[in-house]
Parts: sequence; C-alpha cells; structure tokens
Amino acid sequence: MDRDFLASDDGLLHALELLRRDHADVAAIDLPARLPDAGLGPREALDLLAPIVLGRAARLNEPTAFAHMDPPTPWITWATTLWNASLNQNLLHPATAPAARELEAKVLAWLAPCFGMSGGHMTPGSTLANLTALWAARECAGIREVVASASAHLSVGKAAHILGLGFRQLPVDASGALRRDALPDLSRAALVLTAGTTSTGAIDPLDAVGRAAWTHVDAAWAGPLRLTRHAARLAGIERADSVAVSAHKWLFQPKESALVLFRDNAKASAAISFGGAYLAVPNVGVLGSHGATAVPLLATLLAWGRSGLAARIERCVELAERFAQFVRDDARLELLAPPQSAIVAWRPRQAAAFERVRESLPPGSTSTTMLAGEPWFRNVAANPDADVQLLADAVRRALRTGAIP
Ligand SMILES: *Cc1c(COP(=O)(O)O)cnc(C)c1O
Repeated sequence: MDRDFLASDDGLLHALELLRRDHADVAAIDLPARLPDAGLGPREALDLLAPIVLGRAARLNEPTAFAHMDPPTPWITWATTLWNASLNQNLLHPATAPAARELEAKVLAWLAPCFGMSGGHMTPGSTLANLTALWAARECAGIREVVASASAHLSVGKAAHILGLGFRQLPVDASGALRRDALPDLSRAALVLTAGTTSTGAIDPLDAVGRAAWTHVDAAWAGPLRLTRHAARLAGIERADSVAVSAHKWLFQPKESALVLFRDNAKASAAISFGGAYLAVPNVGVLGSHGATAVPLLATLLAWGRSGLAARIERCVELAERFAQFVRDDARLELLAPPQSAIVAWRPRQAAAFERVRESLPPGSTSTTMLAGEPWFRNVAANPDADVQLLADAVRRALRTGAIP
C-alpha cells in the first residue's frame, strides 16, 4: 500500500497550519533548477513551498483588496476543493462521477432560472463560456459575424477568431456602455451585450436583447446581481439566447469556475455535442475531462442561501457606492460615471497628480485602465471586507502632499 495515496491526518493538519501561519514575503523563488531525481517527501515539499506559495501570494481578503475582480473565497470552498482533489471525479463519464454530474445539474437548475435560462453547464471561466455560447450561436442560428461594443472583453474577439466568424466593434458612450443608436443590421450576427464591462462595470442596454439572430449576454462580472435586490439592473437578460457568468468572480468561488447558460439548453447543447465510442453520454461543449467545480459552488449556495450570497454582493455594491461618493465629494477628483456594477473609475482632475496618487495608494488596492487614451484609476468591489475609508484616506493624503489647489 502506497501511503501517499491515503489521507494523512498529520500531513493535512500541517498543511492547514502552514496556511494559517504568517509567512514573510520571500524575495525570490528558490527551487531546484532541474527536476529533482530524489523526492523530498510530502511534508518537506510543503515546508519548502509554503513561503513561496503562501508568502508571495496576493492577499485578496485583506481590507486593502479593492482592485480586481478576484474575490476572497469562503472556507467551505477550500474544504470542498480538498474533497474534489482527493476524489478526482471526471464529469466526462457517469462511471467516474456518479454524484458529481447530478450535483452540477442541481447547481444549474438552481441558477439558470435567475437568468431566464433553461440550463447549461460549467466551464473553467467566462472566456470559455463565451466561446461555447458563440459556438452554439454559429450552429443554431447560422450567424456569420459577432458584433460587440468596443468595451467587450477580449475573449469575445478571441472566440470569433477561433470560430472563423467576423468580428465588429461598436462605439460606446462615456461610461463604457454600448451606444444603442449604433446597432447595425444584425440578421446574420450574434450580438454580444456585456453586463458589467471589465474596465468600468458598464451595463450595455439590455433592451437590445433580441435584435440579432442570436443575443449572448456576457455577464461574467455583473451576472450575480440577478440574485440580489439589484436584479433589475440586468432586466432584459432573461430574453437572451445565452448568458456567461464567472463564478470565480462575484460568486466567490475558487478558480476555475463559470457557467454557460442557454435559453433553449436542449437545442444548444445538442448542437455542440460529440459522441465517442467509449463515452456513455455525449460530450457537451469544449471541455474533455473536467472536474467537480460545481461542488464548492453548491456548498456555498447551501451554506449561505440566496439571501446570504445576496448580502455579500450587496455589501460590495455599497462599498463601491461609498467610494464613488467620496470621489464626488472631493472637487479635486473626477468620477467617470455612477458605478453600475460596483466598479469605480476615477482620477485626479489634474493629470500631473496621477502618478503621485498612484504611488501613495496601498498596494493591491487600486488598478488602472486606459479610457479614450487616458489613464484612470479603477476599483472593483469583489471583496465584501474591503475598507474604503483606508483607500479614501490614502487618496486624501496624496492630494494634500502635492501642490493641488
Ligand atoms: C472576466 C471577464 C471575462 C472572462 O472571464 P474569465 O472567467 O476570466 O475567463 C469575460 N467577460 C467579462 C466582461 C469579464 O469581466
């Protein structure tokens, strides 16, 4: 019996203890240059890796984490990810995932109706969810091109390229949302509307859903608002042909976790299915072997319920509103637009102050983006425990030290 394939209580407790320990940030990754011939043993390997993997990681659960779409994850997802790794189910085949396939179906049955969709499947991210949806669009609606706003995520253009479809970008307004008056003839096109653009969190006019041969809503970021009291911000999404949502963004899941949803799931799934002699069921979508990412999501939904999940997302929305209000209240700062999905784009009115402010912001607190050729600061409220006062104080201090009136 090879003990390394059995649960080691000591080893797992040691890993947990390392996770909880404060590791000093190590300066460089110092590992053997070549594949070691002799192994260290599991415990020693963990000790060697801990300062690197744990010590050098970005801390997404710190009060300063307010910059990116990557959320902290609830501990129940750590526990269930450990179960997943030890069981290593493969959802490609019912024999290697008897329960896991049903659990994924359950998660889809719970979440798809929130978007007016009848079902779908999980993918490792919305990049693949967008590709999968546009593949179905090509098969089901015979589309020739993909049309999206200039603020659409790069994965949309990438999907069009992979699928051999044309790709056209439409102009946006100052907030980053698609200009509805710019819509061309879409009778042979898939229209991709973005619910929560990556740069500014803008929500495209979803009343344009249905204007094209196929409408896909890329709700990678803002989709989870459908489960909250802000659901109406995404009104119209329920009439889309397909929807993408990244669970590893605003559903607080570990990577890689996302959903592709279809209004007519039976038809769309049949169009993107392949059989194989050794497969008991058709292989739906882009992935081959894939794991039980539904389990941590199902566990989170069971532990929190819809209302517990909504409370966390709503807290993020509040944090963004509060920070936006701070920007509005300071005459030296400019707010791009009211935040539509908890992303705040802002900058000092004096361009010369941008660099100084950037240098004084707490590390990991703020990202930057280019809009119409100019740099803006960008804050993303994916962390319900972010401390916006801390950030506001840092901005005020930076402005005070400069010669800004
Ligand atoms: C993040 C994002 C994507 C890509 O999703 P991944 O989960 O990173 O693959 C697509 N569209 C939008 C609007 C996004 O914000």
